[in-house]
Amino acid sequence: MQTETEILQAAAPLLLEWFRANQRDLPWRKNRTFYTALVAEIMLQQTRVEAVKERYVAFLEKFPTEKELALASEDEVMKAWEGLGYYTRARNLQKAAKTLFEEGIPRTWVGVKSLAGVGDYTAGALSSIALGLKEPAVDGNVIRILTRLLADGSVVGDAVKRKFTELLRAVYPDSTADFCEGLMELGAIVCVPNGAPFCEKCPWAGLCRAHLAGEEERFPVRAEKKARKVEYLDVFVLVCGGRYALKKREKGLLKGLWEFPNRVAACPPPYPPPREGACREGAPAEGACREGAPAEGACREGAPAEGALEKGAVLLAKKTAKHIFTHVEWRMTGYLIAVEEPAPVFVWATAEEIEKSYAIPSAFGAFTEWVK
Ligand code: SF4
Repeated sequence: MQTETEILQAAAPLLLEWFRANQRDLPWRKNRTFYTALVAEIMLQQTRVEAVKERYVAFLEKFPTEKELALASEDEVMKAWEGLGYYTRARNLQKAAKTLFEEGIPRTWVGVKSLAGVGDYTAGALSSIALGLKEPAVDGNVIRILTRLLADGSVVGDAVKRKFTELLRAVYPDSTADFCEGLMELGAIVCVPNGAPFCEKCPWAGLCRAHLAGEEERFPVRAEKKARKVEYLDVFVLVCGGRYALKKREKGLLKGLWEFPNRVAACPPPYPPPREGACREGAPAEGACREGAPAEGACREGAPAEGALEKGAVLLAKKTAKHIFTHVEWRMTGYLIAVEEPAPVFVWATAEEIEKSYAIPSAFGAFTEWVK
């Protein structure tokens, strides 16, 4: 019986040959520099290839080298990142661009890993793809294809990652970029994460222990996931004379981005009906919709509803939406409310200004539709 290293030694040249004949035409595979590879790798963390394709080109038109990105304002960077989600990545990417601009391109895996937002996987990918170093990049995709190739039934975790990193390092060919991208490509289009893999198209079909045993979908073996935390949010789209209230998130998830005034509700809807005078204490902001806005504890006392808004604040529409982050799910109830006076605690912007200059996370996308 072949050892695991022998299987990988046989698999490496088959993968290179397959990748060169079958790779997709992706924009980050052309005119590659260390900086453009960095932009692509950071964008591709937690975002689908199709979603990244267009945004990558537009981002590089705006920031063609590390210099333009290093010297841009945070708001400009956030706007260019809008819709990609996980905005900490954009902030880290700009920090990394500043390091490249001030200190030059790193030459080792350790130097690459020291850039902001770069973990083990991204350091391996950039080292292999942009620097020609034999440094494996092991992520969930690579773990999936290797657990299947080797029929490795260990529960996926750090030990499996370390094992595959060492196995790959031992067989890494000189064509480091093609090998690294070949592994990613095989995981993306042949040995796919959801549903049955396309083994009939796989260069490893004759070697793959899982396939030969007809047990492809038994691998990888994962520990049970913890349930996602659910948070209930009230979101207030306040409009006054064609301008909409925005505020900048000061902390936590989506920090630094613009959002509609909102607050976490203490309990899920449906709320009990509002009682008269329920909204005296003033959320979302003092004076923003005067007595009409729901107060703290409104889910005990009643969220805004038709008839609950007074003195010029009018509830125009209400709808629910949800957004799923990695560890949290937001279940939101949105209220479109016309107010007579713009509260100074907010920035008030027109629809055109929001479109051009304010990055609002896609989590609020259902309510951005009200901004016209
Ligand atoms: S033969 Fe099938 S299961 Fe094995 S690596 Fe290829 S696609 Fe995945």
